[in-house]
Amino acid sequence: MVSTEQVAPALTLPWHQQPWATLLRERSRVAHALLLSGQVGLGKRQFAERLARALLCTEPSDTGDGCGMCRQCRLLLAGTHPDLARVEPLEEGKVIMVDQIRALSEFITTRPHSAERKVTIICPAESMNINAANSLLKLLEEPPLGSVLILVSDRPAMLPATVRSRCQRVDFRVPARDAALTWLAAQGVAGGEAQILLDMAGGAPLQALAESDLLREREQLLTDIEALGAQDGDPVVVAARWHKLGAGRCLGWLAGAVTDLIKLAMVGEPGAHLINMDLASRLQALGQGLHLKQLYGFADALAEARGLLASPVDNLLLLEDILIRWMNVREKVRQK
Ligand SMILES: [Zn+2]
Repeated sequence: MVSTEQVAPALTLPWHQQPWATLLRERSRVAHALLLSGQVGLGKRQFAERLARALLCTEPSDTGDGCGMCRQCRLLLAGTHPDLARVEPLEEGKVIMVDQIRALSEFITTRPHSAERKVTIICPAESMNINAANSLLKLLEEPPLGSVLILVSDRPAMLPATVRSRCQRVDFRVPARDAALTWLAAQGVAGGEAQILLDMAGGAPLQALAESDLLREREQLLTDIEALGAQDGDPVVVAARWHKLGAGRCLGWLAGAVTDLIKLAMVGEPGAHLINMDLASRLQALGQGLHLKQLYGFADALAEARGLLASPVDNLLLLEDILIRWMNVREKVRQK
């Protein structure tokens, strides 16, 4: 239930410098529970891994990072550190269950095997179902001495307030655009492509990098939406294709496209700054005749569907449902 096996590299990201320095100013006084929060794609999980390493290492560097050489670091690098646990959904995109937190509480209340403390990363923390969160609350109320719990969440508002209030909050913010573009360029993504990706990712550099494939897939997604809008295409077939590409990323793109349609309806061309700037003329044709009210209605349904992606609801059905809604929105315009 509690995995101690995976290893993720300790990644140093320029926009982490400030929270890192603040948090490790007094290493011995790091809170027993931390909540790393902020939008997707800012590297919170990487920060958590780096922090876990720093907290377990016996010879940390000047920056507070794990040395990579002591016994603790070597155990970590081998992926076999007995005092580090990671709790995550057993199946991607699903919930963290109460049994997993019970196993964690057993882990955390026994003495450390090798290091001076036990460290746990719970990610994504908002995936805990209510029973799991209540079970965690007990641990937070009486934290075992010296242990550090690191909760990582893109959507901290979904956590019970009682859990949130017992954690020291570390908020991650989108870096300045120039800094994000410089970092992306160093990763091999530059120019107009980097600009579009960063817009699509809401300014989050890691998300922008992860979505670089999506830039090429957008063509297909837009074609699908155009065809369905013209009542020429099968939503079941399209849903299956999108499911394969990843429901979250496809709906993420669609949300951006709908934002563009709303901007076009409000401002009209060519004044609007669009996320999908290079697809402006096709988006304009797509939005022809649609009213703001309809677009807002669809955007709400889409936001709801995206919120349900992590629930037990079948993502394929969610995709079918939202695509059929889109067809209905367009159909109403055609009938006029
Ligand atoms: Zn070390």
